Amino acid sequence: MGVLDLLKKLLPYVLPYKWLLIITLILTFVGALMAQVNAIVLDKTVDAINELLHRPFFAWGEAGKLLLIVSAVLLGKELLSALFTFGQRFFGEKIRINVSRDLSFKVIDRVLTFRMAFFSAEGNEPGKLQTRIDRGVMSLSNTVKNFFIDILPLFTSAILALVLMFAANVHVGLVALVIVPIYFVITSIQAKHLKGWRRNVFGTHQELNNGIMNIIESMNVIKSFNREPLESQKQADLQIRSTQQQMETRKISFLFEGLKTFMEQIGTVLIIILTAYLVLIDYPGMTIGKIMYHVMLFSNVSAPIRQLHRIYDDLNDALIYAEGFFGILEADGEVEKSGTYCPATVKGEFDLRNVEFTYSNGTHAIRDLSMKIQPGETTALVGLSGAGKSTIVNLLDKFYTPDSGSITLDGVPLEEWDTQVLRDNIGLVLQKNHIFSGTIEENIRYGKPSATHEEVVEAAKKAYIYDQIMERPDQFNSQALQMSGGQQQRIAIARMFLKNPPIIFLDEPTASLDAIATEQIKNSIDAIKQGRTVIVISHNIGQIIDSDRLYVLQTGHVEQSGTPTEVYRQGGLYKDIFDASARSMNVDKIADTIG
Ligand code: ADP
Repeated sequence: MGVLDLLKKLLPYVLPYKWLLIITLILTFVGALMAQVNAIVLDKTVDAINELLHRPFFAWGEAGKLLLIVSAVLLGKELLSALFTFGQRFFGEKIRINVSRDLSFKVIDRVLTFRMAFFSAEGNEPGKLQTRIDRGVMSLSNTVKNFFIDILPLFTSAILALVLMFAANVHVGLVALVIVPIYFVITSIQAKHLKGWRRNVFGTHQELNNGIMNIIESMNVIKSFNREPLESQKQADLQIRSTQQQMETRKISFLFEGLKTFMEQIGTVLIIILTAYLVLIDYPGMTIGKIMYHVMLFSNVSAPIRQLHRIYDDLNDALIYAEGFFGILEADGEVEKSGTYCPATVKGEFDLRNVEFTYSNGTHAIRDLSMKIQPGETTALVGLSGAGKSTIVNLLDKFYTPDSGSITLDGVPLEEWDTQVLRDNIGLVLQKNHIFSGTIEENIRYGKPSATHEEVVEAAKKAYIYDQIMERPDQFNSQALQMSGGQQQRIAIARMFLKNPPIIFLDEPTASLDAIATEQIKNSIDAIKQGRTVIVISHNIGQIIDSDRLYVLQTGHVEQSGTPTEVYRQGGLYKDIFDASARSMNVDKIADTIG
């Protein structure tokens, strides 16, 4: 991405603040004008003092008047300057902070519209995504400030100082003018050298962030295996790489900074020599005061240009981060597609024909799969781990779209369905449901934000979690994350009861529950099953044999189907799973024990 592209992309974010921008620019422009005052005052003062010195009698009165005027002008200018600087900084920051807020908001809003495949794609892990967003917002809002607020006044000040130098003397002006492009050249060579390194620093930073997130998420595994040294070593390696990269960028920066300071000094020396020479040969208009005047003006030319490298660095960062950031904003292909079909009622008849599906990492999870899910029935998906059962649920919820084949709901292809309407009609209960940080009530209400407290209580009762909630000191206002795994699961099931959808997908809903809770959930699920389309994925034979229809999956393909009894009689994988499950449960002994 080039600088122009970047500015073009940023412009829409700046335009809403154009008046603020104009005021800031006027303030900084006036500031740039005032920056020249010192040079002019000193020029006049030195000449006036020189003239006073050459009088036969020293005029104390005039000297006092001169000093009074000089002090008043300089102090007055500083006072005004302080006011303008405050205004310029304050408004400039206001623009930067507002743009930063708008960018953050836009990107989060955008990410929320993306399909699931985006989040499981390589490079979009939470830590990496977070770094891309954070860094992007920071460097882009800095660019706005640099470009729209800093650069213009900097250049105005430099150009103004140059014009004054030329007006004073063409030769001096030329010397100053020659130094400027040399400065630019050095800065651009510096930027070129730094570019690759900065990109590396960014990449390593992403990895570091992701690494820290992974450590926190896997803390119990790390601790139980005593793998703290291993994790620490991994982080240390990354940190060492990051340090080397940062040092290399610093080294390059310092080298070039030194070179530029040296160039500036050469410029100052040349200007002193040239002006002194002109004063000595009595060049018209050249007085001692001009030496000071030229040196100060030259510093006004070079000071802003010296800042150029900071802007250059920031800009280079922005160019790197902008790619990742606008990559998110412009990833139109990642936005979930929605149809417009919004029926008044949903029956829940799914028909999958010759469906093929491959995850973005290349896993061919579903192969030539055809199945029918009858409305009002409970269909069980059975198969070993990795057979593709959860993937089918993902496809039916439109989290992913098949590579080929068709999926219809109530005879209408899924892609024609309004995605929100579709999901409003589906309740999803997973093995590990997400509980948000917040109260139990907030977590249950997520299923229906407009629900009354009574409805929340009712849902909790149906999910057999009510009594346990009431035992807690803060009852429904207790923190949901403080509940046990099994209790959290029932909070999530209560959330689904509140949503009350006609279609329910249960993906191993009782896998993390104890036997009593499993039975309670089973009872409540049995109650809610009535008149709804239910797909259940479970390793629990007790839940499978209750289904009306069963599909046995192997490597993403349907191997067997029918009622549980029919499929069992066919033999094959289901019978193997069933028998193994019965044996592992020690059914004979259980029967003996029960008597
Ligand atoms: P099951 O639910 O039967 O255990 P899944 O549907 O979860 O099986 O997985 C089917 C295959 O797809 C497996 O090989 C699994 O590794 C792969 N898979 C599942 N989810 C993803 C994902 N988000 N990205 C890449 N591959 C995945």
